[in-house]
Amino acid sequence: MHMAILDTRSRPLRDLRVSVMDQCNLRCTYCMPKEVFGTDYPFLPPEKLLNFDEIENLVRVFSSLGVKKVRITGGEPLLRKDLPHLIKRIYKIQEIEDVALTTNGLLLGHYAGQLKDAGLKRINVSLDSLNPINYGKMNGRNFPVARVLKALEQAASIGLQIKINMVVQRGINDGDILPLAKYCFNEGYTLRYIEFMDVGNTNGWNMEKVVPSREVLDKLQQTMSLEAVDPDYIGEVAKRYRYKNTDKEIGFISSITESYCSTCNRARISADGKLFTCLFATQGTDLVSLMRNEEISNEDLTQFISDLWNKRSDRYSEQRVEISKHQTKKKIEMSYIGG
Ligand code: SAM
Ligand code: SF4
Ligand code: SF4
Repeated sequence: MHMAILDTRSRPLRDLRVSVMDQCNLRCTYCMPKEVFGTDYPFLPPEKLLNFDEIENLVRVFSSLGVKKVRITGGEPLLRKDLPHLIKRIYKIQEIEDVALTTNGLLLGHYAGQLKDAGLKRINVSLDSLNPINYGKMNGRNFPVARVLKALEQAASIGLQIKINMVVQRGINDGDILPLAKYCFNEGYTLRYIEFMDVGNTNGWNMEKVVPSREVLDKLQQTMSLEAVDPDYIGEVAKRYRYKNTDKEIGFISSITESYCSTCNRARISADGKLFTCLFATQGTDLVSLMRNEEISNEDLTQFISDLWNKRSDRYSEQRVEISKHQTKKKIEMSYIGG
């Protein structure tokens, strides 16, 4: 049965992001800086991770509350054993119209075929630079960019649609804005520029490092003809542009300079089963303990989540400046909560 639920700002629940793994094989400076996420970092022990039955059950419960789209993320989701099986199971849930995966692409060459067989149609791959030195520095592990490009080719050759996510940082990879646009245009990938965000507590964020989307767009328009495209649906995060006289697009995710809280319909589940109603939350709600308690039925769980969503009032991006002046509690790290 489908119940439409709304939060205090009349926002429905449509999009669920599930983090399947808090660990990662990279140490991107803006997400998991290696100085903080070192060998003694307390990652979740395996028994704390939601198992696939639990994830499937949660997706079912959320789908009964209006969720139609599921994004699998992390940490690095392809580090999770048998991930294609999970994707297959989520696809079988009737109300789920779309399943997406965000990955750094390191293991994509190996998994592309299995992911496609599991039903996946599209993937988002994070790629911040084509320059081997820059890419190596930004990923914190000196991982060669050529390997990711090769994996992308493999994935594209079997028909997976590809979106590239580039986090733009001033003075770090702003020189990569044009080369990545050209590369993606030529390969038929859709590029999305993401404003560097103040997620977590460890990435040394400040406003000077943010390159506003407007500035990126102006730069592109000096050499390319782009026209704005109307959003496909309410709550679409990326602002899209089309290269004139083509069907190729480019997008901007402008969490800093143009907040989109007013239509934010996303919930996030961490790898250990906590529910977060905002990317910038300081605390989550433990769903897995409820689920593992035999006295609590799925109907109770559904009601619990529905009540929680009804009370939701998050709008961090709209209040960033005010909140950050007073904030004393630590925000949740993005690698844990899922990007
Ligand atoms: N490991 C996978 C990957 O990198 O695609 C999935 C998880 S990652 C946390 C999800 C997305 O969040 C990536 O596209 C990454 O670039 C983005 N991200 C991480 N930290 C960010 C930050 N501080 N600002 C903006 N985007 C960020
Ligand atoms: Fe890992 Fe993705 Fe974070 Fe980079 S952005 S450290 S690949 S989780
Ligand atoms: Fe949604 Fe929170 Fe981001 Fe606003 S700040 S768009 S409420 S996740």
